[in-house]
Amino acid sequence: MMHENVEFPARGSVGKPRFFDYVLWTFALWPMVCLVIVGLVWVLAFSKISSEKAAIGEQSLALASSLSRSYADQAERSVIQIDQMLRILQYYWRYTNGRLQLRDQKLQGVFPDIAGMKMTVIDRNGRPVTSTLPLSVDSPWITDRPHFLHHKQSASSDVLITGPVAGLTSGRPALLFSKRMETSEGNFDGVVVVAVEPSYLNAFTDPSALGTMEFLELRRLDGTLIVAKSTVAALNEVSSFRALPAFDPSPGAISLGATAFADRQPRVIGWTPVNGQPLLAIAGIGGVEGSALLNARAREYRAAAVAASLALLVMALAGLLLQSRRAYQSFYRAEIDNAYRMATDNANEGFYMLRPVYKGSKGNQEIVDFLIEDCNENGASYYGTTRQEAMGKLMSKYFKDGYAENILPTYCKAMEIGFVEAEFRPTRHSTLRPQWVHRRIFRSGNSLAVTVRDISEKKANESDLLRLANVDPVTSLPNRHWLLQNMPMLLEKAKSSNLQIALLFVDLDDFKMVNDTLGHAAGDMLLNLVGARLKTAIRPEDTAVRLGGDEFTLVLDQVGSEDDVVLCADRIVTALSHPFALAGTSTHLVHASIGISLFPRDGEDLDTLLKHADIAMYAVKAGGKRNVQFFRPELAETLLEKVAGLKAIERAIANDEFILHFQPRVDAHTGALRSMEALIRWNDPQRGMVAPGDFIPLAEASGLVSALGELVIRKTCEHLAQWKAQGLALVPVSINVSPRQLGHGKVHEQLANYLQEYGLERSLLEIEITESAMLAEGTEVAQELAAIESLGISMVVDDFGTGYSSLSQLKRLKVNSLKVDQSFTATLEGNPEDEAVFRAILSMAHTLNIAVVAEGVETLGQLRILQNLCCDEVQGFYISRPVPPAEVPGLLTRVMLFPQHGPEG
Ligand code: C2E
Ligand code: CA
Ligand code: CA
Repeated sequence: MMHENVEFPARGSVGKPRFFDYVLWTFALWPMVCLVIVGLVWVLAFSKISSEKAAIGEQSLALASSLSRSYADQAERSVIQIDQMLRILQYYWRYTNGRLQLRDQKLQGVFPDIAGMKMTVIDRNGRPVTSTLPLSVDSPWITDRPHFLHHKQSASSDVLITGPVAGLTSGRPALLFSKRMETSEGNFDGVVVVAVEPSYLNAFTDPSALGTMEFLELRRLDGTLIVAKSTVAALNEVSSFRALPAFDPSPGAISLGATAFADRQPRVIGWTPVNGQPLLAIAGIGGVEGSALLNARAREYRAAAVAASLALLVMALAGLLLQSRRAYQSFYRAEIDNAYRMATDNANEGFYMLRPVYKGSKGNQEIVDFLIEDCNENGASYYGTTRQEAMGKLMSKYFKDGYAENILPTYCKAMEIGFVEAEFRPTRHSTLRPQWVHRRIFRSGNSLAVTVRDISEKKANESDLLRLANVDPVTSLPNRHWLLQNMPMLLEKAKSSNLQIALLFVDLDDFKMVNDTLGHAAGDMLLNLVGARLKTAIRPEDTAVRLGGDEFTLVLDQVGSEDDVVLCADRIVTALSHPFALAGTSTHLVHASIGISLFPRDGEDLDTLLKHADIAMYAVKAGGKRNVQFFRPELAETLLEKVAGLKAIERAIANDEFILHFQPRVDAHTGALRSMEALIRWNDPQRGMVAPGDFIPLAEASGLVSALGELVIRKTCEHLAQWKAQGLALVPVSINVSPRQLGHGKVHEQLANYLQEYGLERSLLEIEITESAMLAEGTEVAQELAAIESLGISMVVDDFGTGYSSLSQLKRLKVNSLKVDQSFTATLEGNPEDEAVFRAILSMAHTLNIAVVAEGVETLGQLRILQNLCCDEVQGFYISRPVPPAEVPGLLTRVMLFPQHGPEG
């Protein structure tokens, strides 16, 4: 139960974990961990990018250096070439003793014609003497030119590079390579000059081979530009620099910001001094910042970091989800545990965990005891101790003895099969406190979880219920359930000790009528009184049982002979023979029918014995009342006859075998027809005419009496309608209605319906009821009578004098006439007592304005006495037997029905 419907604890409830407290840190932890990891990923990415940047920077510096170096090498080689050329010129000049004609040699293709290369020999006075260019007398002397002055003063034989200067003849910029010539004595003897276009020094690099950011420059050590080359600045004079940095004379490389360059792009530059020359070769390449490689790498790292971040985000979400689910579950588990503990602590449920204690060598171990690993206070209290004290103790401590024999095997069984459940009474050896204990043992790992619950109260209730289930509430006698439970045992006992048991089936003959007429409360009271009397009539060892309804069974244990049983039965009959005081003043006589069966003679089991006692009881009823009957096999046949009889009645109704005879009721003085009584007959094709006494009681014992009753009403109306149609002067017809029939209700409906159906006045019908029917107050019968009365149908009390009706009841029911029972009429002659009864009834009835009818008038003498007593009407064989319908018109037309010559037959 408690595992369902677990509720969130109320806000602020004390001592219970709150859900959000419980999971807050777990919710915060995941995103925090993920955030830290994301941070680390990005730090890593950026450090990677910057180290990549540093590496790329290193590479760029190295590249710029090597570019400048190779540029310097090329420049050196170019200078060496020209130096070579200058040496050749010197040689030729000396060898030809100043007769060298450079112009001729040039024309003959001795000198290469590259980069506008021109060669000139200048004498010691500064006058050009020979040149690859055409010379004239006007050709200017170069006495004041720096290179001429340099060589004239310096004794160095090194190549001097000057310029670029505007060419002497072309005016185009030219670089001058010059060398000093000396006489054999070492005096200045002039200068040899080779002039080339500056591009000569970087002819080996194709501008298209340079990247957009790359450039090469050759400068003097003082920084002046000699030649430049770049994709944008194809002109050799244009430098890529905006501001020139200070260059070390040794090779080097640096990264420069955007401001250093004309195109405002950062770059890495390297420089190398040209070997043996006061020149610097400078190479510039794209800066690290704009490096496509770096950008690509950075993009890669950033993408990786983004991907990692996203993955972490997803993980964080998933983790969060998982975590919250786990937190939710563990919260609920904690809640459930909590609830469980609370529930078990509040309910009287005890709980303990037991660990087996083994003994013996490995492989042959045996459990000898159990150790209390854990328990709750309740569990401990079951053993009259506390949790503190019980923990770690051996279970055997709590049993005085019998532990090894009774308790240990149960626990061992639980260890073996996993689960044992039982309800038991603790033995006197255990310290278990309650009277009744419900115990469940579960194996859990290598331990046992035991719960014990005090079910003493429940057991007490159960035994109460058991008692209630076995006792009839109306009579406080044992009931059918008790009989079913206990009889087999009693029979078994009797069988083994060779004794007889008598089963008496007691049926109250008039009980149903009391119930119908006086109501259920009176019925219950009667049953209660009968039960009490039955108990007084039997021995203490016998049992009176109420089976239900008005049926009682007496079980007489250990009876010696039939005579003993008869004695007991007689005692019962006597006990019930006194009237019962019910509903205040009125008293009732109850007649019992007793059927008896004997064990083992009449049956081996309860069913058979009951059935046979019942059959015997029916035989009593059929054979007349106030009697006792032992079962005899042939009685069963009688019962079968009865069943057959009911079937036959049903069939007879279906075949319309019932007819009505009519017996007139006449004025006692004039003999004039006053009324007719409808009396039913069964015109059985086999048996002939059957009197109502032979089938009415049978029909009354079943529901058939209603069907018969309706049939009588219908047929009566049918005949009346017929006679009416014949134009006869009609008199009312009285119909007999039994109390059982009234109890079923519907009679007033039937009367009303058939009267209407056949178009008859209500005054044409009367009903005859017995005194007992009139006793009913507040019951179905009383309601039915009231309904009939309100239809305007007259009521006649039948068989008056045999029952217990009082004057007030007659008055209340507005009875029209009463029929004094024929037994009074029969003894009227020569019996002054009966005459007195008649007189009393007559005076009483007349004061209530009720007509008195004498039944069963068979003689003229009776008639005379009744006439003298002033009886109002008479009925009987003396006047007329009941006659078939066909004879009724004859009666209706006769003026006086008194016979002219004595009674018939
Ligand atoms: P009951 O209502 O007292 O009817 C009178 C009975 O006495 C009738 O017997 C009738 O034939 C008989 N009787 C009439 N005059 C004399 C007489 O001078 N001397 C003698 N010895 N008997 C006389 P029956 O027809 O056999 O009816 C017997 C009982 O059956 C009736 O007694 C009545 O209680 C019941 N019964 C008859 N017809 C019906 C019916 O349609 N419905 C019900 N519920 N009961 C009926
Ligand atoms: Ca009658
Ligand atoms: Ca009668």
